Amino acid sequence: MTADLRLHQVSKRFGPTLALDQITLTVSAGSLTAILGPSGSGKSTLLHLIAGIITPDQGNIALGDRSLIGVPMHRRQVGLVPQNRLLFPHLSVGENVAFGLKMRGVSRPEREALAEQMLEQVQLKGFAQRHPRSLSGGQAQRVALARALVVRPRVLLLDEPLSALDTHLRQDMQDLIRTLQAETQTTMLLVTHDHQEAISLADQLTLLHQGQILQQGSPVDLFQRPRRCAVARFLGGVNFFPAQAEGERVWIQGIPLTLKTAYSGAGWVTIRPELVRVWERPPDRVNVVPVSLEQCRSRGWQWQLQLRHSSGLVIQAWVQQPPGQSQLWVECPPEHLWMMPD
Ligand code: ADP
Repeated sequence: MTADLRLHQVSKRFGPTLALDQITLTVSAGSLTAILGPSGSGKSTLLHLIAGIITPDQGNIALGDRSLIGVPMHRRQVGLVPQNRLLFPHLSVGENVAFGLKMRGVSRPEREALAEQMLEQVQLKGFAQRHPRSLSGGQAQRVALARALVVRPRVLLLDEPLSALDTHLRQDMQDLIRTLQAETQTTMLLVTHDHQEAISLADQLTLLHQGQILQQGSPVDLFQRPRRCAVARFLGGVNFFPAQAEGERVWIQGIPLTLKTAYSGAGWVTIRPELVRVWERPPDRVNVVPVSLEQCRSRGWQWQLQLRHSSGLVIQAWVQQPPGQSQLWVECPPEHLWMMPD
């Protein structure tokens, strides 16, 4: 895919705070990138720089082969759905959606028709005359999306668009964002701090931490091959063990195991709790360790087991069936054991 949006060594400081530190990022045309990171990691600053609300201290931002530095907001072909999704309270829903078209000098009949069409695309057909006050949170969010998309931006920036919605509305909005993206082929950047949301929506994840990119890649990449413990932790990892490796052999508290990907020296081993297998009889497989069951918590569709090896090692396994005994064996398949430097 061709690169659409490129950031090259972009930095931004607010007084003593270095909000973004030499960010380099490429986003393919028509793809969806999720920007993940804890609060204060620089996610909104990144969107505001791309939108042109603020300017970088250094570095370049380019759309296609055109630099955006010095280009005013309304000339950037970049749309932003801000976090608070504020609609103009004195305008009707239709006028809210048509606002950007009015600013661009589109005639009234044409902008009304385009707004109507856009409202239909976000499943709000017939809402044009309504007032923003009469909308639910989910509806207001869809109007904000329609308002940003109606001017056909090349890049759409979404700042935590789903954080205020409850679970089923979130799912609907996720589906809608995906559908709109497929229909409009808009390049999208979506800020979230919810890793599940990021994984289910995005083609690419960028994980920010203290103004720096910790890792970027496909969801599978970050999930299965985290470069650092912080990445795995942020994506919901819970098993982290100090270890010593020599090629494909690794020792965790004296327990010898096998890695699929060779590693040399000291580091940390992780395995996703969903990928640890639990047996009631020792299976004839590699990386099997006897453990005793310490805790079994039900989450309705899943049981979260805490298991302890005689060395003191504690491992978490999330399984579909509760075990019938406390003496168990865990299997850590080599392809799911992953080692990192810190
Ligand atoms: P996030 O969106 O990941 O929560 P932000 O981009 O909002 O993070 O903020 C990154 C850092 O920059 C934070 O330390 C924040 O306090 C600081 N910051 C952001 N905007 C401003 C501003 N306008 N003035 C001063 N500090 C700011």
